[in-house]
Amino acid sequence: MSLTALNPATGVVVQSYPSLDAVGIEQKLARSAEAFRTWRDVPLAERAQLLKSAASLLRKDVQRHAQLMAVEMGKPLSAGRAEVEKSARALDYCADTGAAALADRPVDLGGPRAFVTHLPLGAVLAVMPWNFPYWQVIRFAAPNLMAGNVGLLKHASNVPGCGYALEQLFRDAGFPEGVFQNLPVGSHAVAAILRDSRVAAVTLTGSTPAGISVASTAGEVLKKCVLELGGSDPFIVLPSADIPLAARTAAIARTINSGQSCIAAKRFIVHADVYAEFADLFVRHMQALKVGNPLAQDTEVGPLATAAIRDEVEAQVEDARSHGARVLCGGHRLPGPGFFYAPTVLADLPQSARAYREEVFGPVALLHRVESTDAALQLANDSEFGLGSSVWTRDEAEAARFVRGLEAGMTFVNALVASDPRLPFGGVKTSGHGRELGTDGFYEFVNRKTVVVSAPPPTDRTE
Ligand code: NAP
Repeated sequence: MSLTALNPATGVVVQSYPSLDAVGIEQKLARSAEAFRTWRDVPLAERAQLLKSAASLLRKDVQRHAQLMAVEMGKPLSAGRAEVEKSARALDYCADTGAAALADRPVDLGGPRAFVTHLPLGAVLAVMPWNFPYWQVIRFAAPNLMAGNVGLLKHASNVPGCGYALEQLFRDAGFPEGVFQNLPVGSHAVAAILRDSRVAAVTLTGSTPAGISVASTAGEVLKKCVLELGGSDPFIVLPSADIPLAARTAAIARTINSGQSCIAAKRFIVHADVYAEFADLFVRHMQALKVGNPLAQDTEVGPLATAAIRDEVEAQVEDARSHGARVLCGGHRLPGPGFFYAPTVLADLPQSARAYREEVFGPVALLHRVESTDAALQLANDSEFGLGSSVWTRDEAEAARFVRGLEAGMTFVNALVASDPRLPFGGVKTSGHGRELGTDGFYEFVNRKTVVVSAPPPTDRTE
């Protein structure tokens, strides 16, 4: 068996890599267990230094890493460079803040000494997606390696080179052998690996069906899991908003990563009072986007990562059209080799269309007109997903109402939803559970052990 990277801009094979057989998996698990026995006791300051080294290695080689993402999954170079820089920032953030976050926390009992100490769990299996092939991995690895866990990366099958590059990064940074390993395997191998007693926990970033599958196995063997899953984020525009700014940001928010981001805005819910103005500007910005070769410096939207994703987006748009949605722009694949799809805006989407409920993982915006702010909130929450949300208003009381009322893990007011190493990231409903990043990210896979130390009674020397 092998894992093959195919350039989505050309449809040409980049490289094939052998996948691990049972013996190879066993060797990796054994190495992981052995590495944990010593890594868990390495001082926090030393771990932080190694994370810093990984950050500086990333920064030295930004272009090479961005090019690898471009050829394996079609990310435009400028976006790839930004992803590498951001990954370096996350490594630095965990190095700088980990010691304080993971320090013992004293609890005053007024008598015996008590504290909470943070102990690592062991090997964390990370099942990762292709859409941010560096960022997603660093986002799990940095806090966990800092906490003393070891990492086993099962990367998406279409970005095998990224998996190897990340393993090499940690090796070059000086992490001991086995602390971070790449497991080149297909998804069929995940359940057995997760059941192995040398794996302590699992984190999955990916689709909701993959999350259900991994969570089911984790449940069977009672292992902790963190799930970062799909989303269909609302972008709500209310009458007092800065409409030109909202429309410009909306086009970026929808087409970020060529539309293949969990936190890309997908449903644009616009108040009737400003609908016409917003729709006109939004469509113009979507049409102006430069779609093309991800290796070209000025490309804003690249291809979709695989032919299957492009076909699925196309099927969702055709289904919407057949149910009566209007295509305001785009609505078709682009000619030539590669898996390109035109930036698209669909209006008047009926509830019967698949896209009303499903995540659309491509540059396709769903534009909804609502008659009131109540209707906007109701429509925003009429989704099984609950990842990010963005609301545009100059009215503070209205903003506060949406902040409380939106069923989402993240709400950004007058801004597009974006991840940041300093902020916790995650969702509710079928978008998953658990949090990565921020201080919260250190605690998902540690044993927060309660310790109480009573002074021994004085020795009785009269006997
Ligand atoms: P995917 O098909 O679910 O794959 C993600 C990872 O899960 C891959 O490594 C994949 O392996 C593995 N996988 C798939 N099915 C599995 C199963 N039944 N058991 C175990 N592992 C399984 O998702 P994707 O297409 O790569 O990524 C897109 C999805 O990820 C979107 O829904 C997006 O919204 C979501 N996402 C969420 C976040 C977040 O933070 N919430 C961030 C990014 C992406 P193979 O590649 O070998 O199949």
